[in-house]
Amino acid sequence: MNQNKKELQVSALCNGTVIDHIPADKLFEVVNLLDIPSMSTNVTIGNNLDSKKLGKKGLIKVADKYFTDEEVSRISLVAPNVVLNTIQDYRVVDKREVKMPSLLRNIVKCSNPNCITNNEPTGTIFHLVDSEKGTIRCHYCEKEINVKKIELI
Ligand SMILES: [Zn+2]
Repeated sequence: MNQNKKELQVSALCNGTVIDHIPADKLFEVVNLLDIPSMSTNVTIGNNLDSKKLGKKGLIKVADKYFTDEEVSRISLVAPNVVLNTIQDYRVVDKREVKMPSLLRNIVKCSNPNCITNNEPTGTIFHLVDSEKGTIRCHYCEKEINVKKIELI
């Protein structure tokens, strides 16, 4: 194999997902959140890459994996505004900026110990109140939490 082909194999993804524009300080949070260390597929992680938008950014390439809406919602809580590229046959077939969803179901734990979701076997529901500040509100007890302080289920 010549040098060009080798380089191509490292950098190009045939099928899978590229998560781009991850703030450099959030990269490993995203890695853990998606349970990437336990994946058996080919994963490339880059950090402190130069970015016009962020200064320094992180990037994760995962071969043969497409993330579910729930996984994407989880990413959006830790690292808002990342860009998700779906790759098929070496081409980007979908590119979208990940926004925090207006409803979060069974993703975030309520921080109010008296909340019904912490005392009965009820799933949690949170509504997005302010996407700029990252404020979400519990559907049951109306407790407002900042996404920087959340505990994921
Ligand atoms: Zn609650």
